[in-house]
Amino acid sequence: MNVGELIRKKRDGGTLSRDEIFFFVQEHTRGVVPEYQTAALLMAVYFQGMTAEETAHLTEAMMRSGEVLDLSELPGVKVDKHSTGGVGDKTSLVVAPVVAAAGVVVPMISGRGLGHTGGTLDKLEAIPGFNVGVSLAEFRRLLREVGCGLIGQTEEIAPADREFYALRDVTGTIPSVPLITSSILSKKLAEGIDALVLDVKVGSGAFMKDLESATALAVSLKGIATRMGKKTVALLTNMDQPLGRTVGNALETAEAIAALHGRGPDDFIDLCRELAAWMLVLGDKAERIEEGRGLYDTLIETGAAAKKFKEIVVAQGGDPAVVDDPGRLPQAQHTEEFIAREGGFITSIQTERIGWAGMALGAGREKVDDTVDPAVGFTVRKKAGERVEAGESLVTIHYNRAEKLPECRRWLEGAFRVEACAPASPAPLIHKTLT
Ligand code: URA
Repeated sequence: MNVGELIRKKRDGGTLSRDEIFFFVQEHTRGVVPEYQTAALLMAVYFQGMTAEETAHLTEAMMRSGEVLDLSELPGVKVDKHSTGGVGDKTSLVVAPVVAAAGVVVPMISGRGLGHTGGTLDKLEAIPGFNVGVSLAEFRRLLREVGCGLIGQTEEIAPADREFYALRDVTGTIPSVPLITSSILSKKLAEGIDALVLDVKVGSGAFMKDLESATALAVSLKGIATRMGKKTVALLTNMDQPLGRTVGNALETAEAIAALHGRGPDDFIDLCRELAAWMLVLGDKAERIEEGRGLYDTLIETGAAAKKFKEIVVAQGGDPAVVDDPGRLPQAQHTEEFIAREGGFITSIQTERIGWAGMALGAGREKVDDTVDPAVGFTVRKKAGERVEAGESLVTIHYNRAEKLPECRRWLEGAFRVEACAPASPAPLIHKTLT
Protein backbone atom coordinates (compact mmCIF):
# COMPACT_ATOMS: atom_id res chain seq x y z
CA MET A 1 0.00 0.00 0.00
CA ASN A 2 1.28 3.51 -0.70
CA VAL A 3 -0.21 6.97 -0.30
CA GLY A 4 -0.03 7.76 -4.03
CA GLU A 5 -2.32 4.79 -4.70
CA LEU A 6 -4.83 6.04 -2.13
CA ILE A 7 -4.83 9.53 -3.65
CA ARG A 8 -5.57 8.09 -7.11
CA LYS A 9 -8.29 5.83 -5.74
CA LYS A 10 -10.08 8.70 -3.99
CA ARG A 11 -9.53 11.08 -6.91
CA ASP A 12 -11.36 8.58 -9.16
CA GLY A 13 -14.29 8.29 -6.75
CA GLY A 14 -13.29 5.05 -5.04
CA THR A 15 -14.07 4.07 -1.47
CA LEU A 16 -11.12 3.74 0.89
CA SER A 17 -11.07 0.76 3.23
CA ARG A 18 -10.52 0.97 6.99
CA ASP A 19 -6.99 -0.38 6.52
CA GLU A 20 -6.19 2.19 3.85
CA ILE A 21 -7.48 5.08 5.96
CA PHE A 22 -5.61 3.92 9.07
CA PHE A 23 -2.46 3.39 6.98
CA PHE A 24 -2.61 6.94 5.65
CA VAL A 25 -3.25 8.59 9.05
CA GLN A 26 -0.60 6.47 10.79
CA GLU A 27 2.00 7.17 8.10
CA HIS A 28 1.14 10.87 8.29
CA THR A 29 1.52 10.82 12.10
CA ARG A 30 4.91 9.08 11.73
CA GLY A 31 5.93 12.08 9.66
CA VAL A 32 6.69 10.14 6.48
CA VAL A 33 3.95 11.56 4.22
CA PRO A 34 4.98 14.81 2.50
CA GLU A 35 2.52 17.69 2.94
CA TYR A 36 1.76 17.79 -0.80
CA GLN A 37 0.46 14.23 -0.67
CA THR A 38 -1.66 14.87 2.42
CA ALA A 39 -3.04 18.03 0.81
CA ALA A 40 -3.79 16.11 -2.41
CA LEU A 41 -5.70 13.43 -0.55
CA LEU A 42 -7.67 16.04 1.42
CA MET A 43 -8.53 17.75 -1.88
CA ALA A 44 -9.64 14.43 -3.38
CA VAL A 45 -11.92 13.92 -0.35
CA TYR A 46 -13.20 17.48 -0.76
CA PHE A 47 -14.32 16.73 -4.34
CA GLN A 48 -15.35 13.07 -4.03
CA GLY A 49 -16.73 13.04 -0.49
CA MET A 50 -16.70 10.01 1.77
CA THR A 51 -19.23 7.39 2.73
CA ALA A 52 -20.42 7.33 6.35
CA GLU A 53 -18.23 4.28 6.88
CA GLU A 54 -15.11 6.00 5.51
CA THR A 55 -15.87 9.08 7.64
CA ALA A 56 -16.18 6.90 10.75
CA HIS A 57 -12.83 5.21 9.99
CA LEU A 58 -11.16 8.56 9.37
CA THR A 59 -12.57 9.93 12.64
CA GLU A 60 -11.32 6.93 14.57
CA ALA A 61 -7.89 6.96 12.93
CA MET A 62 -7.49 10.69 13.68
CA MET A 63 -8.70 10.20 17.26
CA ARG A 64 -6.18 7.37 17.73
CA SER A 65 -3.33 9.51 16.34
CA GLY A 66 -3.03 10.78 19.93
CA GLU A 67 -4.15 9.96 23.43
CA VAL A 68 -7.74 8.86 24.09
CA LEU A 69 -8.79 9.60 27.66
CA ASP A 70 -10.39 6.82 29.64
CA LEU A 71 -12.60 8.42 32.27
CA SER A 72 -14.35 5.21 33.29
CA GLU A 73 -13.09 5.62 36.86
CA LEU A 74 -15.38 8.65 37.21
CA PRO A 75 -19.00 7.86 38.04
CA GLY A 76 -21.90 8.52 35.68
CA VAL A 77 -22.26 9.57 32.07
CA LYS A 78 -19.62 12.07 30.89
CA VAL A 79 -21.24 14.67 28.62
CA ASP A 80 -19.89 17.51 26.49
CA LYS A 81 -21.37 20.06 24.12
CA HIS A 82 -19.85 21.25 20.86
CA SER A 83 -20.84 24.21 18.74
CA THR A 84 -19.74 24.56 15.13
CA GLY A 85 -18.96 28.23 15.76
CA GLY A 86 -20.59 31.57 15.39
CA VAL A 87 -20.65 35.17 16.53
CA GLY A 88 -21.50 35.98 20.16
CA ASP A 89 -21.85 32.31 21.11
CA LYS A 90 -20.81 32.06 24.74
CA THR A 91 -23.12 29.19 25.72
CA SER A 92 -20.29 26.89 26.88
CA LEU A 93 -19.53 29.23 29.79
CA VAL A 94 -23.10 28.73 31.01
CA VAL A 95 -24.00 25.15 30.15
CA ALA A 96 -20.80 23.55 31.48
CA PRO A 97 -21.24 24.84 35.07
CA VAL A 98 -25.03 24.28 35.02
CA VAL A 99 -24.65 20.65 34.00
CA ALA A 100 -21.69 20.06 36.34
CA ALA A 101 -23.77 21.56 39.19
CA ALA A 102 -26.29 18.77 38.56
CA GLY A 103 -23.53 16.21 39.16
CA VAL A 104 -22.73 15.33 35.53
CA VAL A 105 -19.01 15.24 34.69
CA VAL A 106 -18.31 17.72 31.86
CA PRO A 107 -14.92 17.25 30.15
CA MET A 108 -14.77 20.19 27.75
CA ILE A 109 -11.80 20.67 25.44
CA SER A 110 -12.48 23.81 23.42
CA GLY A 111 -10.91 25.90 20.70
CA ARG A 112 -9.83 29.48 20.17
CA GLY A 113 -11.53 31.96 17.90
CA LEU A 114 -10.37 31.91 14.30
CA GLY A 115 -11.49 34.24 11.53
CA HIS A 116 -14.91 35.74 12.15
CA THR A 117 -15.90 33.21 14.83
CA GLY A 118 -15.16 33.48 18.53
CA GLY A 119 -13.73 30.72 20.74
CA THR A 120 -14.48 29.58 24.28
CA LEU A 121 -10.84 29.64 25.38
CA ASP A 122 -10.44 33.34 24.56
CA LYS A 123 -13.60 34.14 26.55
CA LEU A 124 -12.35 32.19 29.57
CA GLU A 125 -8.95 33.86 29.36
CA ALA A 126 -10.65 37.23 29.72
CA ILE A 127 -10.96 36.21 33.40
CA PRO A 128 -7.70 37.36 35.02
CA GLY A 129 -5.51 34.35 35.81
CA PHE A 130 -7.75 31.70 34.20
CA ASN A 131 -5.49 28.94 32.85
CA VAL A 132 -6.76 26.84 29.95
CA GLY A 133 -3.35 25.33 29.15
CA VAL A 134 -3.41 22.47 31.63
CA SER A 135 -2.01 18.96 31.12
CA LEU A 136 -4.23 15.95 30.69
CA ALA A 137 -3.23 14.76 34.19
CA GLU A 138 -4.41 18.09 35.62
CA PHE A 139 -7.57 17.86 33.49
CA ARG A 140 -8.39 14.52 35.13
CA ARG A 141 -7.87 16.10 38.56
CA LEU A 142 -10.29 18.93 37.67
CA LEU A 143 -12.90 16.42 36.50
CA ARG A 144 -12.49 14.33 39.66
CA GLU A 145 -12.56 17.26 42.09
CA VAL A 146 -14.77 19.86 40.43
CA GLY A 147 -16.71 17.76 37.90
CA CYS A 148 -15.74 20.03 35.02
CA GLY A 149 -12.61 21.13 33.20
CA LEU A 150 -12.54 23.84 30.53
CA ILE A 151 -9.26 23.49 28.71
CA GLY A 152 -7.58 23.86 25.32
CA GLN A 153 -6.52 21.14 22.94
CA THR A 154 -3.26 19.66 24.21
CA GLU A 155 -0.45 18.27 22.05
CA GLU A 156 -1.60 14.75 22.90
CA ILE A 157 -5.20 15.11 21.65
CA ALA A 158 -5.74 14.17 17.98
CA PRO A 159 -2.46 15.58 16.59
CA ALA A 160 -3.46 14.44 13.07
CA ASP A 161 -6.39 16.87 13.19
CA ARG A 162 -4.13 19.80 14.02
CA GLU A 163 -1.92 19.06 11.02
CA PHE A 164 -4.78 18.32 8.63
CA TYR A 165 -6.62 21.45 9.73
CA ALA A 166 -3.57 23.64 9.13
CA LEU A 167 -3.28 22.22 5.60
CA ARG A 168 -7.01 22.49 4.92
CA ASP A 169 -6.96 26.11 6.05
CA VAL A 170 -4.52 27.05 3.27
CA THR A 171 -5.74 24.69 0.53
CA GLY A 172 -9.45 25.59 0.44
CA THR A 173 -10.58 22.27 1.87
CA ILE A 174 -12.28 23.39 5.10
CA PRO A 175 -15.90 23.23 3.86
CA SER A 176 -16.17 19.46 3.41
CA VAL A 177 -18.72 17.56 5.50
CA PRO A 178 -16.60 14.41 6.05
CA LEU A 179 -13.49 16.48 6.85
CA ILE A 180 -15.35 18.77 9.28
CA THR A 181 -17.05 15.75 10.88
CA SER A 182 -13.80 13.84 11.42
CA SER A 183 -12.01 16.97 12.62
CA ILE A 184 -14.62 17.86 15.24
CA LEU A 185 -15.34 14.34 16.43
CA SER A 186 -11.74 13.09 16.57
CA LYS A 187 -11.07 15.75 19.22
CA LYS A 188 -14.37 15.40 21.07
CA LEU A 189 -14.29 11.61 21.24
CA ALA A 190 -10.70 11.66 22.53
CA GLU A 191 -11.98 13.44 25.67
CA GLY A 192 -13.42 10.24 27.10
CA ILE A 193 -17.07 11.32 26.82
CA ASP A 194 -20.09 9.03 26.71
CA ALA A 195 -22.53 11.55 25.25
CA LEU A 196 -22.45 14.71 23.18
CA VAL A 197 -24.82 17.57 22.42
CA LEU A 198 -24.03 19.25 19.09
CA ASP A 199 -25.06 22.81 18.31
CA VAL A 200 -24.83 23.13 14.54
CA LYS A 201 -25.15 26.79 13.62
CA VAL A 202 -27.03 27.89 10.51
CA GLY A 203 -27.02 31.31 8.92
CA SER A 204 -25.06 34.38 7.97
CA GLY A 205 -22.61 34.08 10.89
CA ALA A 206 -22.06 30.33 10.60
CA PHE A 207 -19.88 28.05 8.50
CA MET A 208 -23.05 26.60 7.03
CA LYS A 209 -25.13 29.43 5.62
CA ASP A 210 -28.27 27.45 4.73
CA LEU A 211 -30.42 24.88 6.45
CA GLU A 212 -29.74 22.20 3.86
CA SER A 213 -25.95 22.19 4.26
CA ALA A 214 -26.20 22.58 8.05
CA THR A 215 -28.60 19.62 8.18
CA ALA A 216 -26.15 17.53 6.13
CA LEU A 217 -23.39 18.37 8.63
CA ALA A 218 -25.65 17.69 11.65
CA VAL A 219 -26.75 14.33 10.23
CA SER A 220 -23.13 13.38 9.53
CA LEU A 221 -21.90 14.43 13.00
CA LYS A 222 -24.74 12.70 14.79
CA GLY A 223 -24.47 9.57 12.64
CA ILE A 224 -20.72 9.14 13.14
CA ALA A 225 -20.80 9.93 16.88
CA THR A 226 -23.65 7.44 17.35
CA ARG A 227 -21.79 4.81 15.30
CA MET A 228 -18.85 5.31 17.65
CA GLY A 229 -21.02 4.48 20.63
CA LYS A 230 -21.84 7.96 21.92
CA LYS A 231 -25.36 9.08 22.81
CA THR A 232 -25.81 12.17 20.66
CA VAL A 233 -28.36 14.92 20.12
CA ALA A 234 -27.84 17.57 17.42
CA LEU A 235 -29.60 20.93 17.38
CA LEU A 236 -29.66 23.19 14.33
CA THR A 237 -29.71 26.74 15.67
CA ASN A 238 -29.99 30.22 14.25
CA MET A 239 -26.82 32.19 13.53
CA ASP A 240 -28.48 34.84 11.34
CA GLN A 241 -27.64 37.36 14.06
CA PRO A 242 -25.19 37.44 16.96
CA LEU A 243 -26.34 35.38 19.92
CA GLY A 244 -27.28 37.62 22.84
CA ARG A 245 -26.25 41.27 22.92
CA THR A 246 -22.46 41.08 23.12
CA VAL A 247 -19.58 40.19 20.82
CA GLY A 248 -15.98 40.22 22.12
CA ASN A 249 -14.31 38.17 24.80
CA ALA A 250 -14.71 40.01 28.14
CA LEU A 251 -18.09 41.43 27.08
CA GLU A 252 -19.34 37.93 26.29
CA THR A 253 -17.92 36.51 29.52
CA ALA A 254 -19.81 39.20 31.45
CA GLU A 255 -23.01 38.28 29.57
CA ALA A 256 -22.46 34.59 30.38
CA ILE A 257 -21.95 35.41 34.06
CA ALA A 258 -25.20 37.41 34.06
CA ALA A 259 -26.97 34.38 32.55
CA LEU A 260 -25.62 32.23 35.37
CA HIS A 261 -27.41 34.67 37.70
CA GLY A 262 -30.59 34.33 35.60
CA ARG A 263 -30.32 37.59 33.66
CA GLY A 264 -29.85 38.27 29.98
CA PRO A 265 -31.32 38.36 26.48
CA ASP A 266 -34.00 35.77 25.69
CA ASP A 267 -32.29 34.14 22.69
CA PHE A 268 -29.09 33.52 24.61
CA ILE A 269 -30.84 32.25 27.76
CA ASP A 270 -33.23 30.06 25.75
CA LEU A 271 -30.39 28.42 23.85
CA CYS A 272 -28.35 27.80 27.03
CA ARG A 273 -31.45 26.29 28.64
CA GLU A 274 -32.13 23.98 25.70
CA LEU A 275 -28.52 22.79 25.28
CA ALA A 276 -28.10 22.23 29.03
CA ALA A 277 -31.46 20.44 29.22
CA TRP A 278 -30.34 17.95 26.53
CA MET A 279 -27.02 17.46 28.32
CA LEU A 280 -28.96 16.71 31.53
CA VAL A 281 -31.13 14.20 29.66
CA LEU A 282 -28.10 12.47 28.14
CA GLY A 283 -26.37 12.63 31.54
CA ASP A 284 -29.29 10.72 33.13
CA LYS A 285 -30.29 13.62 35.39
CA ALA A 286 -33.59 14.19 33.61
CA GLU A 287 -35.88 11.72 31.89
CA ARG A 288 -37.35 14.13 29.42
CA ILE A 289 -36.39 17.48 27.94
CA GLU A 290 -39.10 19.36 29.93
CA GLU A 291 -37.60 17.98 33.13
CA GLY A 292 -34.13 19.05 31.94
CA ARG A 293 -35.38 22.60 31.37
CA GLY A 294 -36.92 22.66 34.86
CA LEU A 295 -33.65 21.44 36.37
CA TYR A 296 -31.77 24.19 34.48
CA ASP A 297 -34.12 26.80 36.03
CA THR A 298 -33.60 25.37 39.52
CA LEU A 299 -29.81 25.29 39.21
CA ILE A 300 -29.84 28.94 38.13
CA GLU A 301 -32.41 30.15 40.69
CA THR A 302 -30.72 28.44 43.66
CA GLY A 303 -27.32 29.90 42.70
CA ALA A 304 -25.87 26.38 42.31
CA ALA A 305 -24.71 27.06 38.72
CA ALA A 306 -22.97 30.36 39.59
CA LYS A 307 -21.34 28.64 42.59
CA LYS A 308 -20.08 25.83 40.35
CA PHE A 309 -18.67 28.37 37.88
CA LYS A 310 -16.83 30.04 40.75
CA GLU A 311 -15.37 26.65 41.76
CA ILE A 312 -14.20 26.07 38.18
CA VAL A 313 -12.61 29.54 38.04
CA VAL A 314 -10.77 28.93 41.33
CA ALA A 315 -9.61 25.46 40.26
CA GLN A 316 -8.20 26.88 37.02
CA GLY A 317 -6.38 29.77 38.69
CA GLY A 318 -8.79 32.61 37.79
CA ASP A 319 -10.12 35.49 39.87
CA PRO A 320 -13.40 34.17 41.37
CA ALA A 321 -14.53 37.68 42.33
CA VAL A 322 -15.54 38.25 38.66
CA VAL A 323 -18.50 35.92 39.20
CA ASP A 324 -20.06 38.45 41.59
CA ASP A 325 -18.53 41.51 40.01
CA PRO A 326 -18.00 41.21 36.22
CA GLY A 327 -16.78 44.83 36.35
CA ARG A 328 -13.41 43.28 37.24
CA LEU A 329 -13.11 41.89 33.71
CA PRO A 330 -10.94 43.89 31.26
CA GLN A 331 -12.75 47.00 30.00
CA ALA A 332 -11.98 48.91 26.81
CA GLN A 333 -10.83 52.51 27.28
CA HIS A 334 -13.27 54.01 24.78
CA THR A 335 -16.71 53.49 23.33
CA GLU A 336 -18.32 54.91 20.23
CA GLU A 337 -21.77 54.43 18.74
CA PHE A 338 -22.39 53.02 15.28
CA ILE A 339 -25.48 54.92 14.20
CA ALA A 340 -28.37 53.98 11.88
CA ARG A 341 -28.54 56.38 8.93
CA GLU A 342 -32.23 55.71 8.33
CA GLY A 343 -35.12 54.51 10.41
CA GLY A 344 -37.13 51.33 9.91
CA PHE A 345 -36.96 47.69 10.90
CA ILE A 346 -33.88 45.49 10.97
CA THR A 347 -34.80 42.88 8.38
CA SER A 348 -31.51 41.00 8.26
CA ILE A 349 -28.00 41.07 9.67
CA GLN A 350 -24.83 40.00 7.86
CA THR A 351 -23.52 38.41 11.02
CA GLU A 352 -20.19 37.38 9.54
CA ARG A 353 -19.45 41.09 8.96
CA ILE A 354 -19.90 41.72 12.69
CA GLY A 355 -17.40 38.93 13.36
CA TRP A 356 -14.90 40.49 10.94
CA ALA A 357 -15.55 43.93 12.47
CA GLY A 358 -14.62 42.45 15.86
CA MET A 359 -11.51 40.95 14.38
CA ALA A 360 -10.54 44.34 12.95
CA LEU A 361 -10.73 45.76 16.49
CA GLY A 362 -8.45 43.00 17.82
CA ALA A 363 -11.13 40.75 19.38
CA GLY A 364 -10.23 37.78 17.17
CA ARG A 365 -7.34 36.33 15.25
CA GLU A 366 -6.55 35.87 11.61
CA LYS A 367 -3.70 33.44 12.23
CA VAL A 368 -3.54 30.93 15.09
CA ASP A 369 -0.64 32.73 16.79
CA ASP A 370 -2.20 36.25 16.75
CA THR A 371 -2.95 37.71 20.19
CA VAL A 372 -6.39 39.02 21.06
CA ASP A 373 -7.44 42.10 23.03
CA PRO A 374 -9.93 40.69 25.56
CA ALA A 375 -11.62 44.03 26.24
CA VAL A 376 -12.76 45.08 22.76
CA GLY A 377 -15.99 44.21 21.00
CA PHE A 378 -19.58 45.29 20.66
CA THR A 379 -22.80 45.71 22.51
CA VAL A 380 -25.49 44.94 19.93
CA ARG A 381 -28.29 47.48 20.45
CA LYS A 382 -30.64 46.34 17.69
CA LYS A 383 -31.44 42.82 16.57
CA ALA A 384 -33.48 41.33 13.74
CA GLY A 385 -37.10 42.43 13.69
CA GLU A 386 -36.50 45.43 15.99
CA ARG A 387 -37.35 49.01 15.10
CA VAL A 388 -34.61 51.61 14.83
CA GLU A 389 -34.89 55.39 14.40
CA ALA A 390 -32.48 57.33 12.19
CA GLY A 391 -29.61 58.49 14.42
CA GLU A 392 -30.13 55.73 16.97
CA SER A 393 -27.27 53.39 17.86
CA LEU A 394 -27.15 49.96 16.21
CA VAL A 395 -23.99 48.90 17.98
CA THR A 396 -21.74 50.30 20.72
CA ILE A 397 -18.11 49.79 19.73
CA HIS A 398 -15.77 49.11 22.68
CA TYR A 399 -12.22 49.85 21.51
CA ASN A 400 -8.71 50.57 22.69
CA ARG A 401 -6.92 51.68 19.52
CA ALA A 402 -8.54 54.40 17.43
CA GLU A 403 -6.53 53.40 14.33
CA LYS A 404 -8.54 50.16 14.23
CA LEU A 405 -11.88 51.97 13.98
CA PRO A 406 -12.02 52.73 10.21
CA GLU A 407 -11.71 49.07 9.23
CA CYS A 408 -14.13 48.05 11.95
CA ARG A 409 -16.66 50.59 10.66
CA ARG A 410 -16.18 49.37 7.08
CA TRP A 411 -17.26 45.90 8.18
CA LEU A 412 -20.20 47.23 10.17
CA GLU A 413 -21.39 49.30 7.18
CA GLY A 414 -23.83 47.08 5.37
CA ALA A 415 -24.07 44.57 8.20
CA PHE A 416 -27.58 45.74 9.13
CA ARG A 417 -30.32 45.88 6.55
CA VAL A 418 -32.97 48.44 7.53
CA GLU A 419 -36.29 48.48 5.65
CA ALA A 420 -39.61 50.25 6.04
CA CYS A 421 -41.61 47.10 6.76
CA ALA A 422 -41.06 44.61 9.54
CA PRO A 423 -39.74 41.20 8.43
CA ALA A 424 -42.54 38.68 7.79
CA SER A 425 -41.53 36.23 10.49
CA PRO A 426 -38.27 36.00 12.39
CA ALA A 427 -36.24 32.82 11.93
CA PRO A 428 -36.72 30.41 14.85
CA LEU A 429 -33.89 30.14 17.39
CA ILE A 430 -33.92 26.35 17.04
CA HIS A 431 -34.62 25.08 13.54
CA LYS A 432 -34.57 21.35 14.30
CA THR A 433 -33.47 18.90 16.94
CA LEU A 434 -32.15 15.50 15.84
CA THR A 435 -32.59 13.19 18.80
N1 URA B 1 -14.14 23.03 13.58
C1 URA B 1 -13.22 22.05 13.64
O1 URA B 1 -12.74 21.69 14.70
N2 URA B 1 -12.85 21.48 12.48
C2 URA B 1 -13.36 21.83 11.28
O2 URA B 1 -12.99 21.25 10.27
C3 URA B 1 -14.31 22.86 11.24
C4 URA B 1 -14.69 23.45 12.42
